[in-house]
Amino acid sequence: MPDYRVRVTKDYTVFCSGHFITYAGGKCEALHGHNYRAAASLEGALNADHYVFDFVTLKKILRNVCDRLDHRMLLPLRNPLIDVLEADGEVEVRFKTRRYVFPREDCVLLPIANTTAELLAEWIAGEVRATLFEKGPIPALTALEVEVEETVGQTAFCRIMLEDRASEE
Ligand SMILES: [Zn+2]
Repeated sequence: MPDYRVRVTKDYTVFCSGHFITYAGGKCEALHGHNYRAAASLEGALNADHYVFDFVTLKKILRNVCDRLDHRMLLPLRNPLIDVLEADGEVEVRFKTRRYVFPREDCVLLPIANTTAELLAEWIAGEVRATLFEKGPIPALTALEVEVEETVGQTAFCRIMLEDRASEE
């Protein structure tokens, strides 16, 4: 049996967001932004109409997830070096002596350890999977891969197995 895969990426599966990551065991980048571009691939068996998954639906799902990140400051909630505190409609972020305060609505607080392209790809994959399976499992789909291009020629990939992940929950 051949393997099949469909992949979508469009001009609108992008998000222009601010972030900074910690690196090298304790350093922290200055605040900056990227015009991120996302792509999503689904692997699986062909259905009765001979396709893996509807391109239009997959584009829409990916776009909705990207839109939630677009024009926002992306902040990690699980980084031991970065404190993120919500209060009074604001988000206060501390790294050592550095301190930022953002309006709450300008931020997306992500349950990840660092806003690397790899972990953003993993988070997006989780959100895409949740939407895919909102109306129940789709047994023909075996894997989902999300790509996050941080800048031209610099892309991280995260591939999750859909069968395994579905049975975990
Ligand atoms: Zn960056």
